[in-house]
Amino acid sequence: MYNIKEGGDYLRKIVGAVLILSAFLLTSCSKAPEKSEEHFFAMDTYMSIEAYGDNSEKCVSQARKRVETLEKLWSATDENSEIYAINHGKNPELSVETLDLLSFTLEMSAKTDGAFDATIYPVLTAWGFTADEHRVPDENELAELLEKVGYGKVSADGNKITLEKGMMLDFGGAAKGYASDECAAIMRENGIKSALINLGGNVYALGKRPDGNLWKIGIADPLGENSENAGIVAVSDRAVVTSGNYQRSFTQNGKTYGHIIDPKTGYPADNDLLSVTVIAEEGKLCDVLSTALFVMGRERAERFFRENGGFDMILIAKSGEIYITEGISENFTSDRKVCVIN
Ligand code: ADP
Ligand code: MG
Repeated sequence: MYNIKEGGDYLRKIVGAVLILSAFLLTSCSKAPEKSEEHFFAMDTYMSIEAYGDNSEKCVSQARKRVETLEKLWSATDENSEIYAINHGKNPELSVETLDLLSFTLEMSAKTDGAFDATIYPVLTAWGFTADEHRVPDENELAELLEKVGYGKVSADGNKITLEKGMMLDFGGAAKGYASDECAAIMRENGIKSALINLGGNVYALGKRPDGNLWKIGIADPLGENSENAGIVAVSDRAVVTSGNYQRSFTQNGKTYGHIIDPKTGYPADNDLLSVTVIAEEGKLCDVLSTALFVMGRERAERFFRENGGFDMILIAKSGEIYITEGISENFTSDRKVCVIN
């Protein structure tokens, strides 16, 4: 039998429970998702990884371990690395990762007509960039070393590769981009919806910021001091990678030499560009292309873009102008003069 008093109590209990539940839901909705971050040094640069949500602590730690594992495989100076072994006349069975990045860099070396060349290492060493003992090699020395450079001379046989005597491999222009893709994959596999992976300027912005907005990535002003930005690009699920000879360089007799080498001449790339930023879905593509397009200079870089597409770019010219592709024009802000490439 329905009793009014009891019915009233019953209703009050339900209303009370609903109130408690909604208060709980409200607090859990407004509570910021758990943030985890790690800052560390690897691949010769400073890195940081931040991720949001349940599981984020585990993911950040796994991502860092993945970067460290790849570094162990690819460090050109670590005597135990696969690259070191290859570069010192050995012929080891290569890991899946090394074969994967090797085939990608060789493919991109061909696609960029050698502006990117995975075998540039002997020349880089002659300039002292690998040991931080900078010097300017003479033309004869460079001409001789360039004979040891040529992605077309690398021959693969199953999971082994052979280099001609004196040839050496270098993943310095691609490893961080590849590693950022691996970090993003770890995040996605574990259900992370929001993360910012910054491997020494090779950025991967996963999902959106925890507040639902796009990630905002500052593009460094190559001539600016105190890490000023030349502009800001807003992205989601994109890698953003910048290359420029202002990043690692030395000056001798008034001339500045940078660490990105033009494989055609053996000299540091020196053209009308100060920096190139590439924005695309894959970090490894961005990393290789930012280096290659920097070597190409503006005109060739624009032609490459028109012929290939599949990415966006921001070119900062020595003239001070900024050139960007149409795909990011709505999401790029700058105080400078910006020209849209189409
Ligand atoms: P960073 O490694 O500073 O982020 P990049 O991605 O542009 O910058 O890579 C530059 C590195 O790539 C150099 O330090 C060197 O190891 C290697 N490198 C230099 N020139 C070339 C080139 N033309 N092709 C391939 N790799 C290059
Ligand atoms: Mg690169």
